[in-house]
Amino acid sequence: MTVPIRNHDIAELKRLDLAHHLPAQTDYKLQQTLGGSRIITRADGVYIHDGEGHQILDGMAGLWCVNVGYGRQELAQAAYDQMLELPYYNTFFKTASPPPIRLAAKIAEKMGGHLTHVFFNSSGSEANDTVFRLARHYWKLKGQPQRTVFISRWNAYHGSTVAGVSLGGMKYMHEQGDLPIPGVEHVMQPYSFNEGFGEDPAAFCARAVKAIEDRIVAVGPENVAAFIGEPVQGAGGVIIPPDGYWPAVEALCRKYGILLVCDEVICGYGRLGQWFGHQHYGIKPDMIAMAKGLSSGYLPISAVGVADFIVDELKDKGGDFVHGFTYSGHPTCCAVALKNIEIMEREGLVERTRQDTGPYLAKALATLNDLPLVGETRSLGLIGAVEIVREKGTNLRFLDKEGEAGPVVRDICIRNGLMVRAIRDSLVCCPPLIITHAEIDALVAILRKSLIEAEPVLRALKPE
Ligand code: PMP
Repeated sequence: MTVPIRNHDIAELKRLDLAHHLPAQTDYKLQQTLGGSRIITRADGVYIHDGEGHQILDGMAGLWCVNVGYGRQELAQAAYDQMLELPYYNTFFKTASPPPIRLAAKIAEKMGGHLTHVFFNSSGSEANDTVFRLARHYWKLKGQPQRTVFISRWNAYHGSTVAGVSLGGMKYMHEQGDLPIPGVEHVMQPYSFNEGFGEDPAAFCARAVKAIEDRIVAVGPENVAAFIGEPVQGAGGVIIPPDGYWPAVEALCRKYGILLVCDEVICGYGRLGQWFGHQHYGIKPDMIAMAKGLSSGYLPISAVGVADFIVDELKDKGGDFVHGFTYSGHPTCCAVALKNIEIMEREGLVERTRQDTGPYLAKALATLNDLPLVGETRSLGLIGAVEIVREKGTNLRFLDKEGEAGPVVRDICIRNGLMVRAIRDSLVCCPPLIITHAEIDALVAILRKSLIEAEPVLRALKPE
């Protein structure tokens, strides 16, 4: 079935956008200056289309989420069928419906090990709020109510709610809303290009792990509830930790009896070539947060995977867990997520990412290393970054300030037909897992062309 292409009055939409809409994470003055938002009207496969006749290769899978690509009729059908049978019912007060039960069982199968249970929410932020309350509740039940502190990393992204921003390590987000809330400690991130440039990787890894241990000791291990981290920091700039980092962090958590939480909101559902990112690193978290790829973004849904020993405690003496959302276990969202996982299994998207497209992307990105602006390319599975530098062989930035060059190159990429994101001075990509070799070649060709075009523009920037 082909979907009819609807015509939209883009000028009218832009006018209404400015008059009534506050888009997320947007500079409203800039939105005004630009005459309204970019309006995406349809998408298919790995391509999005704006209302002004441009086809753009979606190097970001929407917002790191459209893992099975756009235009999946099976997902629309799953939503349609479930909406007619039971569009909505809640999971409050010992109630459930078939889709969340089946989805919980499916997720438990994918998590494996001691992660046996699942709590549903709608967004990644809510998943982390659930983690936050559940971890503290658990320690209270264990008779250690003073264990309230979460340890996180600078540049971590854990969402936009009060707990999400607080757990996250984005200083510019903390500034709005007087955050973080008490009880969150941020430590060094394992970002070797910025914080360990030229340093021996093993020494850098040891330093990053020691920063965590030092903080645990400073706070008092008996006060620490959990360590939380994304297996690969996504919105922080695709920060891939050095080998050995995660097993060492896991060992620290065990040494001090601290819960280990992985935020799998980006890394889950095949992104790193395993169902979950922690499986790539061979570690065993006690809770994981997931969202995005769970439904490939077709409907909002998130979940927290919980270890059996935490659930045992809740079952034994927890009473009501007074937490949950109207849409926890939403039947239609769960039905779509189940179908999404079925598609990923049938098409072998996780294995393909691990064995084929992930390594292919790494090689393709590495071809950019001959360009004068490129300081480093890195990727794992189908998530990657290109660092932009002023002087080859260094990590010096344009104007000596981070974040000046990235947006310039990003805008050129978009003009050239590639949606990527600039995070400070890195261009990051996270394409749908269905991407083919030819589409990866096209993605990297646009990056090359754009980096070449950007060079004179950036060199013309004068220090103030
Ligand atoms: N955690 C991580 C690792 C994320 O990348 C994000 C979103 N980018 C979130 C949490 C928050 O998810 P949401 O925007 O669905 O609340």
